[in-house]
Amino acid sequence: MENIIVAKFGGSSLADAHQFEKVKNIVEANGDRKYIVPSAPGKRHSKDYKITDLLYLCSTHVEQGISFDDVFKIISDRYNEIVTELSEKYNHMKALDINTYLLKIKYDIESGCPSDYTASRGEYLNAIILSTLLNYDFIDASDLIFFDKYGRLNADHTHKGIVKKLSSSKNAVIPGFYGSDPSGKIKTFSRGGSDITGALIARGAGASLYENWTDVSGFLMADPRIITNPMPIEAITYRELRELSYMGATVLHEDSVFPVREAGIPINIKNTNSPLDRGTLIVGDTHPMEKCGTITGIAGKKDFTVIAIEKNLMNTELGFCRKLLSILESNNVVFESMPAGIDTVSLVIPDYQLDNKLETIIEEINRQCKPDSLEILPNMALIATVGRGMSKSKGIAAKIFEALAKNNVNIRMINQGSSEINIIVGVENNDFEKAINSIYNAFL
Ligand code: ASP
Repeated sequence: MENIIVAKFGGSSLADAHQFEKVKNIVEANGDRKYIVPSAPGKRHSKDYKITDLLYLCSTHVEQGISFDDVFKIISDRYNEIVTELSEKYNHMKALDINTYLLKIKYDIESGCPSDYTASRGEYLNAIILSTLLNYDFIDASDLIFFDKYGRLNADHTHKGIVKKLSSSKNAVIPGFYGSDPSGKIKTFSRGGSDITGALIARGAGASLYENWTDVSGFLMADPRIITNPMPIEAITYRELRELSYMGATVLHEDSVFPVREAGIPINIKNTNSPLDRGTLIVGDTHPMEKCGTITGIAGKKDFTVIAIEKNLMNTELGFCRKLLSILESNNVVFESMPAGIDTVSLVIPDYQLDNKLETIIEEINRQCKPDSLEILPNMALIATVGRGMSKSKGIAAKIFEALAKNNVNIRMINQGSSEINIIVGVENNDFEKAINSIYNAFL
């Protein structure tokens, strides 16, 4: 069976002509890279603009009746620069007249086209350029990614569309981020959505691997702003990834994971600027861990408030927790976790959820649940130590707690889910960085 790799390149991988060249070299280095999904040009440096942001800006200008000429000129200059520089090196690029495309887009924006259409043109133009550079077919995403009339992805129709379209193309570039609705109008995913396009194409193509090329060599075991030079994660399962990204560590668009997860296709996060680095491989949940007793990563979030409730014989009171949780629900508040003792239960709630609502919630808990005592404990941070290698191996929790104790960090809460791939501790906001350092150093 032939091997197919679907490679998605993010905005920074296609930010200028030099980056396009790197992408060309990467694609040509492995003939299995048959289907390529580009994002729009991203930032070349920290003060630069993302083309997608500028396109949205054009739409707002038109809506407000302001001229968008200046903004459009920045967009147009950027694409012209890319094509001109590439044409200097690659003769076949000279045949591409990017200005004809740009003029049509400008005309469409002037005529008041919907903002989804405008925003999608960044990927569209990049795909035109890249397909010319690689001598690959160009397949418009509107011909194979389909949304329903409510704006949701129509996964079945999309899958069939992809299978059909790709069957007549051996090598193609398909723009990321958008598709079409039942009336044929362009519809985009949420921001960062090219990751989803890539995953859908990978599934439809029956790929053996989905490569997601960015500007980092995969996931790191901890936040580099807290740990100096953290080790990269070589392999991580989807479940571990979910736990870590939920706790704040993220490189991938969340929705992009499940089309490939369902199909059992691994994702390789790779670095366009350092293509030989192995990156991180995201694999099925049954993937074995080489070394038992090790961890995969540490992530955490600050700013939680704990509502600690105590009531004698709570464990025998029917419906106590239902009442408690329905108070949160009726106030539209989501809680993070609910550690419990015999006569105690705590609600751990992110501060941003509690905006102006804490007083009402406390008043309702007192009235409906009649606790013996209720305490509000602010400024808690949660830290998750995640790893499939910890399940069924002894001493992991001991190592974490010992490390924290040695470094004088007080643990305010402990929580281990039944999956045994995650131990969460609650510490003071002020101890957050110290706690992550202590745990990291204990394992590495
Ligand atoms: N260009 C789009 C954005 O900036 C989509 C993407 O890059 O994935 O959100």
